[in-house]
Amino acid sequence: MDYVIQNGQLVMNDYTLAADLGIENGKITAVTKRGELTPEVAGQRIDAGGLHVFPGFIDVHVHLNEPGRTEWEGLETGTKALAAGGISTFFDMPLNSNPPTTTAERVRDKRKLAAEKAQIEGYWWGALVPDNIEQLQALKDEGVIGFKAFMTPSGTADFQHADDDTLLKGMEKIAAMDKVLAVHAESKALIEHLTSKSIAEGRRTIRDYERSRPIESEIEAIKRILTYAEWSGCKLHICHISSPKVLEPIMQARAKGVDVTVETCPHYLYFSLEDFEQIGPAAKCAPPLRTSYEVDGLWEALLADEIDIVSSDHSPAPFALKTEAESIFESWGGIAGAQNSLDVLLTEGYHRRGATLSQLVNWCAVNPAKRFGLYPSKGQLGVGADADLTLIDLNKTWTLKEEDLKQRHKETPYVNQTFAGKVEMTFSQGSIKHLADRTLV
Ligand SMILES: [Zn+2]
Repeated sequence: MDYVIQNGQLVMNDYTLAADLGIENGKITAVTKRGELTPEVAGQRIDAGGLHVFPGFIDVHVHLNEPGRTEWEGLETGTKALAAGGISTFFDMPLNSNPPTTTAERVRDKRKLAAEKAQIEGYWWGALVPDNIEQLQALKDEGVIGFKAFMTPSGTADFQHADDDTLLKGMEKIAAMDKVLAVHAESKALIEHLTSKSIAEGRRTIRDYERSRPIESEIEAIKRILTYAEWSGCKLHICHISSPKVLEPIMQARAKGVDVTVETCPHYLYFSLEDFEQIGPAAKCAPPLRTSYEVDGLWEALLADEIDIVSSDHSPAPFALKTEAESIFESWGGIAGAQNSLDVLLTEGYHRRGATLSQLVNWCAVNPAKRFGLYPSKGQLGVGADADLTLIDLNKTWTLKEEDLKQRHKETPYVNQTFAGKVEMTFSQGSIKHLADRTLV
């Protein structure tokens, strides 16, 4: 064997197991009683005493921006940050790289770059934009994990939002291919109306920005896309919801048979609008952070298993694009959180709000793997699964320092936060990609 992980507590689907685990050629090849993988069994020993061993976590929503905007982030720095945060597998969004992932050739280009630079395993989202309807089949054939569309301008001119005509044409095709369409669901009409009114009236504070992108804007877009999904039969994934209020139409659509999953992000679960006012542009994202009332509501929905997936939506940029803007309205929107998803879910979820370990695994491993066709190779610790593992000390308390961050730009709202629970080691496909504590090996 390549590695033997001893004395850990394995986190299985709905129970934990005191067992040892063997890894060979990138796969889990043994799960045995403690001590059964005796010293005669070859392999580097890892003492996971006091640690929990999770199936490697999957981040379904990151922007690594390579090629084309590597001054914003890059495959190497972005995936080092993900690995340090306990992530074994990432799904890279089609935008903020330049050119965006609108054709099969661009998937091949990204894959080539990733083979040289990425520290962990990657998959690629294909774009659904107005001028690439004829490319969707080739993107599918190239192996994209799904398609992504924006219902409102994305913030970069090289990635056009999908108007309703594009959505309808695209969803027909994506349904026929049996793939999933992920959407950034906010109402273009409502946001443009409220934004121009707010700016014309000189209202440009953080609170004004939040009011210009209200929860109703998410609800309008979500209801519309659910109608299109019901009509077309297209599988849907709603990205980064900011409020539990959007769940009502989603539950109604589910009851009618619409195949829809929902995602939220750690920043919506950890920071409120009041925090945003304190922190400033590092905490700007779209949809914006909401009141602490919404944060509590999101947790309730997550704990009730009404939200399927938690992703980082890591979306970094040079900090000047945030701070040198005229007001918060022009400031770049995107929170850099690749490294901190588990920190939030362990601290706020497991320790503070009673989330179970299997819920953490569901949100960040099982549900992503099942939704996007990677289960049971990923999302569980059985023999034959990919050797993607995250070793966590559930009870270590620590404070995040800027120098701990592996991403290109260190400006993140998580710096100086104290967390309970720490990622100690991450495996992707049988190799160690992050090691916090050298004494483990
Ligand atoms: Zn995003």
